[in-house]
Amino acid sequence: MLAEIITIGDEILIGQTLDTNSAWLGEHLNTYGVEVIQISSINDKKESIVNALKAAETRADIILITGGLGPTKDDITKKVLADYFGAQLIPNHGALENIKDIFHRRGREVLQINVDQALVPDNCEVILNTKGTAPGMYFEENDKIYVSMPGVPYEMKAMMEQVVFRKLNAKGDNYTIVHDTITVVGVPESHLSVAIESVEDNLPPHVKLAYLPHLNLVRLRLSAKSIALSPAQLKSDIDTAFAAIKSIIGNVWFDGDRNLPEIVGEMLIENRRTIGTIESCSGGYVAHSLTAIAGSSAYYKGSLLTYAYETKVAIADIDQNMLNIYGAVSEEVCEAMAKNARKKLDVDYCISTTGIAGPGGGTDEKPVGLVFIGLAKPDGSIEVKRCEFHGTRLQIIERTAYTALDMVRRALDSSRQGTRA
Ligand code: ATP
Ligand code: MG
Repeated sequence: MLAEIITIGDEILIGQTLDTNSAWLGEHLNTYGVEVIQISSINDKKESIVNALKAAETRADIILITGGLGPTKDDITKKVLADYFGAQLIPNHGALENIKDIFHRRGREVLQINVDQALVPDNCEVILNTKGTAPGMYFEENDKIYVSMPGVPYEMKAMMEQVVFRKLNAKGDNYTIVHDTITVVGVPESHLSVAIESVEDNLPPHVKLAYLPHLNLVRLRLSAKSIALSPAQLKSDIDTAFAAIKSIIGNVWFDGDRNLPEIVGEMLIENRRTIGTIESCSGGYVAHSLTAIAGSSAYYKGSLLTYAYETKVAIADIDQNMLNIYGAVSEEVCEAMAKNARKKLDVDYCISTTGIAGPGGGTDEKPVGLVFIGLAKPDGSIEVKRCEFHGTRLQIIERTAYTALDMVRRALDSSRQGTRA
């Protein structure tokens, strides 16, 4: 079955609300064998809603609508749907009890506009809202399914999980869709695509390859879709294609949809190495990235956050003379930070960062975005990289963390033996 998602709300169009509903719906519908062919975001105007419905009907079997079910005047979805189907709005007992119950528990009076939320078009099946007041609505008209749900993400998700997925599943004529992803590190997308062209060109027609690049990573997703073939067969087709890809690209891939801190963590575990950090301009962001990964206690030991000159001296034993001569943002200080912190934290690898994240504080000699990143390694050697990043303060901090983690990845990679099974 083919589906189309329509999200309604002025707040989405002006960027005040990010449309996460569509992303969630797309991902989950797929696992139920429903293919999403279009996502549209529209404003809270009758004409826009009607036009979107008319267009969606020509393409999709299922039309999922979120938003515009609130009690306030700006929410008009229900009224528009009733008009669209030539239906009357009638009170729904279950929905009204639910609303009264919620207001009762909050110790609030039920106003007429709350009672009106229990009015639904007489041609729909009500989907009880177990997380809020606005009832969801399920319609079957002209061989199409329409589902209207609240915009509030957790209310919508509960309705999908408790009712809608089961109903769609019961329809039966769905595709079997199987996806799998690997993450490739350190190979630009264009190089990768040339390298694996022969595999891509010879994929079975029901298998598609997608490239999802992000900074220095490329996620490769294989999707197999069929009505006739079994999930096991589709999985096997994907496995065959991935095996061919892996044999070409060599030891640069990781199973699954990964990010760099996860990959570095896995490599540290594989190599039985520990890591620590000493940060200045990144303010703990590298430490945060590493420790956001579950299980990081297996390799991450700790951090020194030495933002000020005097803190660098007091906590990291940086020589005051060195700071006076070279400044805190210098190769020399960066190297000393990594060296001293590696010892203090008693770790195999230690990352150091010092730079100017801006927007103020830059000079001709040391512009905003100038960052030194150090990596002290198990053999005692220290690598220092001089980077000139562009962007906002936060972007410079993020790029610093990313580059630092990539230095660790490269260092671990060069010490890695053999190939991944
Ligand atoms: P309410 O009863 O809260 O008014 P509603 O059905 O009228 O619900 P909206 O008014 O459109 O829904 O949105 C309510 C809130 O839900 C918004 O403020 C927004 O935070 C969130 N929301 C709406 N649409 C989306 C969406 N597509 N993705 C993510 N969040 C959304
Ligand atoms: Mg609303």
